[in-house]
Amino acid sequence: MTWDGTHYNYEAARERMVQYQLAARGITHPRVLEAMRRVPRHLFVPPERVYDAYSDHALPIGEGQTISQPYMVALMTQLLDPAPSHRVLEIGTGSGYQAAILAELANEVVTVEREESLSQRAREVLESLGYRNITFVVGDGTEGYPPLAPYDGIIVTAGAPFIPQPLVEQLAPGGRLVIPVGHRYEQVLTVAEKDEQGKLHISEHGYCVFVPLIGKHGWRSEADGEWEPEGII
Ligand code: SAM
Repeated sequence: MTWDGTHYNYEAARERMVQYQLAARGITHPRVLEAMRRVPRHLFVPPERVYDAYSDHALPIGEGQTISQPYMVALMTQLLDPAPSHRVLEIGTGSGYQAAILAELANEVVTVEREESLSQRAREVLESLGYRNITFVVGDGTEGYPPLAPYDGIIVTAGAPFIPQPLVEQLAPGGRLVIPVGHRYEQVLTVAEKDEQGKLHISEHGYCVFVPLIGKHGWRSEADGEWEPEGII
């Protein structure tokens, strides 16, 4: 890692992250790569973790939650493919890092977090960075956020036992929902695309591991999911 004697070279670390963790592994979306190059990920991790911010793994952010691995953020964003005119819903604000990437790419981002302290901290960081196109909501994201629906894209950054029906209902025709679906400790990165007739087309994009999506249309508690969930799509 680059160290010039006075400060750590975050920009160089970010460039290496983009080249070796993202581009080299098949992230090809130019706008996604550009956004990952721009957003200062080290400002979204706890102070004692800043030197690890651009490493190839998830990191703890408090409240038992995590900021996702850079590759997973990039892959999910590439699958979502947000356009500059889009309104996007994110479930699981966490550190706010994914919300920043989305805010770089879409017109408007609505991000829902169930832990108030995380939402508050993310809001402070994102506002200090000058993002003005993000709406922060504290609540159960498995219910979506009906006041601003429909959404051109929805991204869920926690592992769900099945696709929450309210999210399907709040997805606009032509819209895409990206969500890890499966068991408590392993999920399949799933994309549900709604066609103009309202029919869902499902595709799968490999295995992933996320903290659980807890709520009315998700896991019922942290301890839930130790058994096989019913209704996996
Ligand atoms: N997107 C985040 C980031 O960029 O740092 C990472 C999110 S972390 C892997 C998952 C987050 O989902 C946690 O902060 C957790 O509290 C939140 N979460 C879990 N269930 C939720 C629900 N029903 N509604 C909203 N947020 C939820």
